[in-house]
Amino acid sequence: MVTAKEGIMELQIKRVQVQTLCPVCQQENESILHNLVSCYFAQQCWLLLKVDNQGTGCLDFTTWLERVLHTASSKVQAEIITLCWAIWRNRNDIVWNQRFSSVNKTVAAAKQYLTQWSIAQNRSSTTLLQPTFEGDGDCIWVNPQQNSVKVSVDAAVFEDKDAAGLGLVARDDNGELIQAKTLILPSKVAPVLGEAMAVKEALSWIDVMQWPKVILVSDCLVVVQAIRSKTPMRSQFGKVIEDCRSYIRRLNKISLYHVKRSANMVAHQLARESYNYPDRTFDRDSIPSSVKYCIEMDLKC
Ligand SMILES: [Zn+2]
Repeated sequence: MVTAKEGIMELQIKRVQVQTLCPVCQQENESILHNLVSCYFAQQCWLLLKVDNQGTGCLDFTTWLERVLHTASSKVQAEIITLCWAIWRNRNDIVWNQRFSSVNKTVAAAKQYLTQWSIAQNRSSTTLLQPTFEGDGDCIWVNPQQNSVKVSVDAAVFEDKDAAGLGLVARDDNGELIQAKTLILPSKVAPVLGEAMAVKEALSWIDVMQWPKVILVSDCLVVVQAIRSKTPMRSQFGKVIEDCRSYIRRLNKISLYHVKRSANMVAHQLARESYNYPDRTFDRDSIPSSVKYCIEMDLKC
């Protein structure tokens, strides 16, 4: 696994223009340790979470993390890991979307995510939906089998713009981009409906392409399980799910899986870019650079 710093250095060697100053504070050079621990913004976040990150004097992030996790309860350990994720997400939001968040919002997002995750964990034991299948739950990008195409989908809701966007990405058995598409929805939709619409749009796209075998992945477990279940649902969501089921029955070459968000970063980034690049089709040369970067990162894992 290549670290972000090594990745940046490699890009610099290849003479790709890379910003090395921390995008959050614009004061010091960027490193994982700086971004997540010693940056002024990160320090304020840790202070708000009441985690003492001072005085550890660590030279690298892993050592720092081991030290702070060592004495923490399992509840605090979960909070620490989630806050690392939230601080990193904030950094990416600044880099890719020029969107700045506050310390309060970043810590609140981490806490909210953790609460939702805990609720989901409790619910999953009593869910009436089918259990996950073998092949579900990839945490990182995995190339599809030879001669198969992997289509990843994601949706983004643009709260401030009253719109939502979909990102669909088809990649070959080397993980290289074949084609990608964006679609913009002219109004906000519930995130889970957006995720279902992304799957349906991908199926309609697969229908016209001549790919022999397709692995379709979404990071929305609710949608994947709803499509697999046979339960009729009388709602807009249910209608989209029923359309997905009939595509899959008819096309007979599609395997649908759930993957973790971390394995779906390319479609995730494209969905977020859909507002800037609405209703477009991309190839390797025209794909937005932020999405290209995510593909490169996948292939380094
Ligand atoms: Zn900084």
